[in-house]
Amino acid sequence: MIKIYDTMNRSLRDFVPLEENKVKMYVCGPTVYNYIHVGNGRSAVAFDTIRRYFEYRGFEVAYISNFTDVDDKIIKGAREAGMSTKDFSDKYIAAFMEDTAALGIKPATRNPRVIDFIDDIIAFVADLIEKGFAYESQGDVYFRVEKSQDYAKLANKSLEDLVMGASGRMDEETARKENPLDFALWKSAKAGEVSWKSPWGEGRPGWHIECSVMATEILGDTIDIHGGGADLEFPHHTNEIAQSEAKTGHKFVNYWMHNGFVNVDNEKMSKSLGNFVTVHDALKTIDGQILRFFLATQHYRKPINFTEKAIHDAEVNLKYLKNAYEQSFSDQVNQAEFQVLLEKFQAAMDEDFNTANGITVVFEMAKWINSGNYTAAIKEQFAAVLEVFGIVFTEEVLDADIENLIAERQEARANRDFARADAIRDQLAAQGIKLLDTKEGVRWTRD
Ligand SMILES: [Zn+2]
Repeated sequence: MIKIYDTMNRSLRDFVPLEENKVKMYVCGPTVYNYIHVGNGRSAVAFDTIRRYFEYRGFEVAYISNFTDVDDKIIKGAREAGMSTKDFSDKYIAAFMEDTAALGIKPATRNPRVIDFIDDIIAFVADLIEKGFAYESQGDVYFRVEKSQDYAKLANKSLEDLVMGASGRMDEETARKENPLDFALWKSAKAGEVSWKSPWGEGRPGWHIECSVMATEILGDTIDIHGGGADLEFPHHTNEIAQSEAKTGHKFVNYWMHNGFVNVDNEKMSKSLGNFVTVHDALKTIDGQILRFFLATQHYRKPINFTEKAIHDAEVNLKYLKNAYEQSFSDQVNQAEFQVLLEKFQAAMDEDFNTANGITVVFEMAKWINSGNYTAAIKEQFAAVLEVFGIVFTEEVLDADIENLIAERQEARANRDFARADAIRDQLAAQGIKLLDTKEGVRWTRD
């Protein structure tokens, strides 16, 4: 049974899907106004790994992740670049696809964009007004936070705390609200901004509403899992719950999952702190698979420290796994021993996708393989385990070709044709294949 740490309850809970063997998950995607930084990459890798593990366990996963393509930062960036907001966000969506592909992230089932859901958003907001949960004010529409039960429970905040925090705030927007805590569902257009016609005049959606609309439109009123970075608990996910449950009258999300941050020298990597590295830049010097491996092998809720040493370690460890993966086969293995390791791996991963413990077992598997236990069947099972971490080793030289050459070399040696035997050894060495003559026969490794 897979257990998930649910942010809402702050405890591990057995995962019981809405529909047997299916997972409906929604993960907040990027605002597409720049290249994603390694912190965003970590979130994408964390939820991709979770998705892959569900698939490994036989679940069918509907994985939805949005692109926020209507936003103040996009409007500003597009203006500065002299581009339309559509062309500007298209550019960074293409960059996101390229970067995440390099990180071995599976394409989402669907990546909905705000611009394709404007009508649905308007209908959703109109419904909230009709139900008394929202009100129009000078062309803006706000959500009445007071009407929401357990508002901010997800972030473990009380309404009183929030009122205290918001008191004394008095700007132009606050003046339009009934209560300073109310949040915008719809914003009236400012001159020169991208906007759409609505019952409240020209305007555009606020940020939070898009995820409620896209998640419920695509996956239904209630979904299994909603994920995102821990910084989204409040206000973004808090507001998603309030508006979704007000609209549908149903529980919005069964399990809330939040990933930890990437730190640089023990400080959170963020655009505002200016210590961020984009995935695009990181990939210039770090192989995508190594970066992925570094990000995937820490437990998703824990912070990870992005350092040169951590990347170097990931490279060395990945090489060790590759070497094991490419071992030559032995005649007989004790399949039961491998079965024990597979069960150990599953037990580690079932515990809230603990990839740190899971990868420890993967190294035990590699060690076991390296000690002379490998068959085609084991290789297939080992490959499936590696795939959970997004690791797919491509083999430049086919194993069968190597095995054939080794057999030919053995024959040459038996015939005392040492020149031919040496030639084959040299040929394999040139392809990065090292031969080891052991009592059990010839073993080989890749460099
Ligand atoms: Zn969202």
